[in-house]
Amino acid sequence: MKVIKGLLGVLVICFAVLAGYVYWLGGFPENIKALPNSQAPKAKNWQQALSNAQTVDYKLLQVGRIVMDRNTLMQGAPDSYPQRYAALPVLSHWIRHPQYGDFLIDAGFSKAFQQSNDGNYNWLMSTMASLSGIKNSLEVPLELHLNHKVSKLKGVFITHFHPDHSSGISDLPSGTAVIADRREYDLFAKLTNTDLFQEQYDWQAIDFNQGESLTPFERVIDVFGDGSVWAVSTPGHTQGHTSYLLNTTNGIKFVVGDASHFGYAYDNNYPPAALSEDLRQQAAASLAAIKAFSIQYPDVKLVFGHQLP
Ligand SMILES: [Zn+2]
Repeated sequence: MKVIKGLLGVLVICFAVLAGYVYWLGGFPENIKALPNSQAPKAKNWQQALSNAQTVDYKLLQVGRIVMDRNTLMQGAPDSYPQRYAALPVLSHWIRHPQYGDFLIDAGFSKAFQQSNDGNYNWLMSTMASLSGIKNSLEVPLELHLNHKVSKLKGVFITHFHPDHSSGISDLPSGTAVIADRREYDLFAKLTNTDLFQEQYDWQAIDFNQGESLTPFERVIDVFGDGSVWAVSTPGHTQGHTSYLLNTTNGIKFVVGDASHFGYAYDNNYPPAALSEDLRQQAAASLAAIKAFSIQYPDVKLVFGHQLP
C-alpha cells in the first residue's frame, strides 16, 4: 500500500511539473490562418492530377546528421542488420515556384547546433536525446545552403513538428509563413519544440477537411491551385504528418518525410514508430498507401525523411 501511495505521489508530482511546464510554454499561435491559394483537387485520379507539371526548381539540402539506434524509429524491426547505427542525414528541401517564390519543406537543425549538440532543443528534447544516446550535429546551416538569402523565403512547409524538422525555423526571419496540417499544432508539438509557437511567424494551417481523396490517399490538397505542389495527408508518425508531392517539369518527387524514414524501413515494410496504437495503425496505413502509389507510378521519385537519394 505504501509503495502504491508513493508511486501515486510521484505520478502527481510528474503531472504537476508537466502541467506547469506546458503553462510556462504558453499557448499556440493565436492566429493560425488558412493556407491561401490552396484548392481541393479537381482531378479524379493522379494521372489527371499530374498532367500539369510546372517549372518548379528543387534542391535537397543536408543540414545535419543524427547518430542513433534506428530501431527506435520503426515498428517491428529486427535486432540486427548492418545499418542499425548508421548516421541519419537531417534534411531540408528548397523549392522555387515560378509565381509564388521560394519555400522550404522542413527546416532541419538550427545554426544553434554549431554551439552545442543540443542546439536550440528544450530541456525535454535534450534529456530525451541524452537518455537514449542520440548524437546530433550540424553540417551546413540553412543560411549557407541558401547563400545568406533566407529572407527571400516565403515560407516553410512542415512534414511534422518533430524538432529535427522544425528546429531550423528559428533561423528564418519573423513573418515567414510556417505551414502544417492543422492537426499538427498539438500538445506534443508544443512539448517538444522550444517556445517556437510564441514566435512571430505567419502561422498557416492546411485543412485536409477541405481536400479530396485521390486514391490511394484519403486527403489531398492542391497547395497553389495549379497542380504543381500537392500536400498529401500521411498521418501516423504524428497525427498531422504531411507528405509533399512536387510535380515539376524536371520529374516528379514525393517528399514523404518520416512517413518512412529511410529505404530499409520502406523496403522491409516497417512503419514508423508512433506514440499510440491508433497512430501506429495510421502509420502502417500511410506507408501502405505510399507503397501502392509508388507501384502505380514508378516514375515518381520517393524522397525519404532521413536518407540521401
Ligand atoms: Zn525526423
